[in-house]
Amino acid sequence: MDVLQPQITSNEALTILANHGYRATNPRRDVVELVMQQTRPFTAEQIVAQLPTTSRASTGPRGQRSAIGGRPDPPLPQSNGHPAYVVGEPGHRHHLICSNCGYVVAFTSCPVEPVVAELGQSHDFAIQGHNLEIFGLCQNCRS
Ligand SMILES: [Zn+2]
Ligand SMILES: [Zn+2]
Repeated sequence: MDVLQPQITSNEALTILANHGYRATNPRRDVVELVMQQTRPFTAEQIVAQLPTTSRASTGPRGQRSAIGGRPDPPLPQSNGHPAYVVGEPGHRHHLICSNCGYVVAFTSCPVEPVVAELGQSHDFAIQGHNLEIFGLCQNCRS
């Protein structure tokens, strides 16, 4: 099973932002650094809470923040109701999610593809996508 790790550096992320018209201001650097350190799904609110106060006022509207994190489609469910983001490249992937602490493992191998193909055939459906998140307890939360 392929486990995905973030494959870009903070500097590359800043370059991507710059290409989308977001200049690399100091507050944005802080946000990017924080985002790249996340190993669990996180919300915009959690990132803001970790920012130095000097940077908080300048992080801009929600839309700018979401340009930084890869937004799963649909966003990963979180117990507090906020959409969560994971660091990584866009693409077809599924997640194992610890429902206690939010630890997430992303994997690219697709266990449901054969079922989806079969369903498409038997119901004459042109399948465009699917979604699979698996919930459970991670090793830490069980011990
Ligand atoms: Zn856990
Ligand atoms: Zn799949």
